[in-house]
Amino acid sequence: MKKEELLTLSPKELTDMGVCPTCLNRKYHGAIFGDDSQLKLYEDQDIECLFVGNPRAIGHMMISTQQHYHDMSEAPDEINCKMIRFAKQFMLILKQVFGCERVYLCTMSDGPMNHYHLQLIPRYKEEERGSKNFVKPRKEYVFDASKFLQVKTLIAEYAKTIE
Ligand SMILES: [Zn+2]
Repeated sequence: MKKEELLTLSPKELTDMGVCPTCLNRKYHGAIFGDDSQLKLYEDQDIECLFVGNPRAIGHMMISTQQHYHDMSEAPDEINCKMIRFAKQFMLILKQVFGCERVYLCTMSDGPMNHYHLQLIPRYKEEERGSKNFVKPRKEYVFDASKFLQVKTLIAEYAKTIE
């Protein structure tokens, strides 16, 4: 299929066809998911970290690999270690910056095509505990310049310590 035709399809349609929307989006510089300058918190040669564009909670974010792997079982152990280390650090940062009580970690590699990513979903004090937090209704992302910058700065400082 031609680039122009591919780019008219939804992420779900691409997935169903066996085309990875994440890889396609990167190849064509945001053609699927749009401008991520208010979402992207960190990037290096191995991973990419962003706030989710349709979050289940304020501060909901994801960490994905640069290279395409279906899930954790396909990725090299060094990459999995890095993903977990960053997830831990983001848990601390999200608590500090957003004041949430807990941060839930999940990874679902469903469907015929999936791009390995971890999701971090904050739970706030007033919210009930439990697995319902994984499926809280999605809402619109609201850019908070101050919090965005704080998270970005803190993760950049962390990244320097592990280089
Ligand atoms: Zn991919």
